[in-house]
Amino acid sequence: MIVFDKVTKVFPGDFVALENINLTIDTGSFVSLVGPSGAGKSTLLKMIYAEEEPTEGEVIFFNRPISSIKRRLLPYFRRNIGMVFQDFKLLPQKTVFENVSYALEVYGKSDEEINEEVPKILDIVGLLDKMEKYPAQLSGGEQQKTSLARALIHRPKVIIADEPTGNLDPTSKWDIVQLLLKINDFGTTVILASHDKNIVDKIDKRVIGMQDGKIVRDTKHGKYTE
Ligand code: ADP
Repeated sequence: MIVFDKVTKVFPGDFVALENINLTIDTGSFVSLVGPSGAGKSTLLKMIYAEEEPTEGEVIFFNRPISSIKRRLLPYFRRNIGMVFQDFKLLPQKTVFENVSYALEVYGKSDEEINEEVPKILDIVGLLDKMEKYPAQLSGGEQQKTSLARALIHRPKVIIADEPTGNLDPTSKWDIVQLLLKINDFGTTVILASHDKNIVDKIDKRVIGMQDGKIVRDTKHGKYTE
């Protein structure tokens, strides 16, 4: 469970990006965050990843206040969370396999573990046959599947997807959403920030609407606009 307890974020210049956010995201749930640019969605997501700290209030991740985690332990904490972005953030000089295995190498995993684990994850996203390709040789959808595989490699408790379909054609968009739903069915909590009305409407899960740093609606089987 992720809990935002009276969270406010004020950026320098007295700019209030989040104002008194109270929110509980249940373990294993799927949540879509919607709202106009500047509403505070990315700031909220970054707080879960411990990339931004609240000015007031507390974010609690599976019973643990994130502010209590020592700085040097943040990389370990972050393995609980897989991140996917609009712009994929793949390493262009590495193959699909290497883009995914890299995340394990930096934690000192053995070649044996890597050779076992990476194909398993690539199979989940349907990229086993593209393992040796470089990002430039892939479609946008395949690149996003690669970054999703990288996000999954530590078997995270939570996947945070910030506009993951923003750069994709309609078919690839839906492929990515299907994968997020499949990952959610495995029990992983998924938090999706999206501007895509068609997608949010089709997902038919909890929708949280944000505006001017506040939660303005929270609907169980929500649509992009109510
Ligand atoms: P969204 O993801 O909904 O578009 P953001 O969380 O990115 O919204 O931004 C919320 C507001 O906070 C925006 O007005 C943005 O300009 C401001 N903001 C975000 N990050 C910073 C920062 N590091 N410094 C100052 N202002 C910021």
